[in-house]
Formats: sequence, structure tokens, C-alpha cells
Amino acid sequence: MPARGNPQRGGPPQSRRGWCFDIKYFIVVKLPHKPVFLLLVLSIAALLFYWHYKTPRLVPAQAVLPLTGLVFAIDPGHGGYDPGAKGYGLVEKDVVLEIGFFLRDYLQQGGARVIMTRDRDKDFLAAAGPKKRLDMSNRLRIVEEEGADLLVSIHANYISSSRWQGSQVFYQEGSSGGKALAECIQAELTRVLKNTNRQAKSGNFFMLRESSMPGVVVEVGFISNPQEAELLGKPKYQMKMAWAIYLGIIAFLTAP
Ligand SMILES: [Zn+2]
Repeated sequence: MPARGNPQRGGPPQSRRGWCFDIKYFIVVKLPHKPVFLLLVLSIAALLFYWHYKTPRLVPAQAVLPLTGLVFAIDPGHGGYDPGAKGYGLVEKDVVLEIGFFLRDYLQQGGARVIMTRDRDKDFLAAAGPKKRLDMSNRLRIVEEEGADLLVSIHANYISSSRWQGSQVFYQEGSSGGKALAECIQAELTRVLKNTNRQAKSGNFFMLRESSMPGVVVEVGFISNPQEAELLGKPKYQMKMAWAIYLGIIAFLTAP
């Protein structure tokens, strides 16, 4: 095989053992004999083929997130003119908003779209009317307009005696979806927090009764109990509470 090159133009020296490519007269790449070269090319092609079919496929992250395509409504209770319960330096509207933020983050990380009826200290009294009912109606309108699949309303409990404690989940009486969701969340609150032995319980709640999706009211604990109030004021405990609620939602959605 004749060597390549252009000695008349100062090209690289000719080679007797293989091909020579002349690149700009100063970069010289020597290649082995043609059969060896072909074998090398075929080996590389075989390796590329192997890697292509044996390497695990990268699936788009969205496809493996457990809550992709779902819409959740979080309703941190009270706000604005209505502080909710107060005790031991805590105000219910502030505590439930912080827990709502943590829950929102977990749900979003799970791939869900999350609507919060409020993401700051506000109420929903844009028009005149009986205060509490109007506030609740406007929250409900937000939840319905956004087409939420599940509703989680977050509150904290208060009672005149300081001895009661423990988080508890409520659902609308007669709602089988709400009951199942409440029981799943209650089970995770019990397992994760290890400080409540309360059971999910039915009741009559405006937001749950009037909404079209399964929903629960999570009472995160008693602000009237000094030990529980102290816990509820700590971001670490608020995060733990939100995590338990999140796990309960996952359990509800994956139940057979
Ligand atoms: Zn409340």
C-alpha cells in the first residue's frame, strides 16, 4: 500500500508499514495495516452496541414520581382576622401554615401540583357577609376551581384543660374516601410521631361536606397542652408532622 504524504510540500515522511495522513503538514497520524484497522473499528462498534443495549435506560424523572398528574389542595386553617387557637406563645394560624409549607414541599417533590388556599397570613373576606362562612366559601372555591384530587385542611386543637394531647384526623361523615384517607394519615401520625393513640373520627365540616373530592381535617395536636405546644413550635416537629401526613397520603393512594 503506498504511503500518503507530500514531500514536495514539506509533508510527513512516507511509511512502509501503514497509511499516513497528512494534516496541515505537522500533525501525523499513523494507522496500522488495513486488516488490523478494520478489526479495531469493528471492535469499537461492537463495544458501542453493547453499551447502548446493556446500559440501564434513563427514564425521565417525572415518569417515576409517585404523585405525577395529581393535584392536592392544602388549606392551612384560619389566617388574617382569625388567629384560631392560642396557647403557650403559639398561634394556630402560624403553626398550621408552617406545616402546610412542609407538606406542600413533600407533595411537590413527589411530582404533584399543589394549591394552597393561603400561603401567608391572610383571610378571604373580599366581600361583605357572615365572616366565617364567607371565608370558608372562598377557600372552597379556590379548591374546586383548581380541580384538586384531595383536600387536606390543617388545624390545631385547643381545649380548656391542658391534659389532652395527640394529633387526630377527621373526615366528613358518610364519605368513604375521606374515611380511608383519614385512617391512612392517622396510622402514619401514630407510627411516625409516637405520641398519639387517637383514632380517625367522623364529623361535620363545611369544607369537607361541600367539596367534591375526598378530604380530611388534620388536627396536628393540642396547643392547650404545654408539651405539645412546645413541639408544635419547632420546625423539626412541624416537618415530621408534614412527613407523616405525606406518608399517609401515599398509603391511601397506593392501597389495593
Ligand atoms: Zn382551627
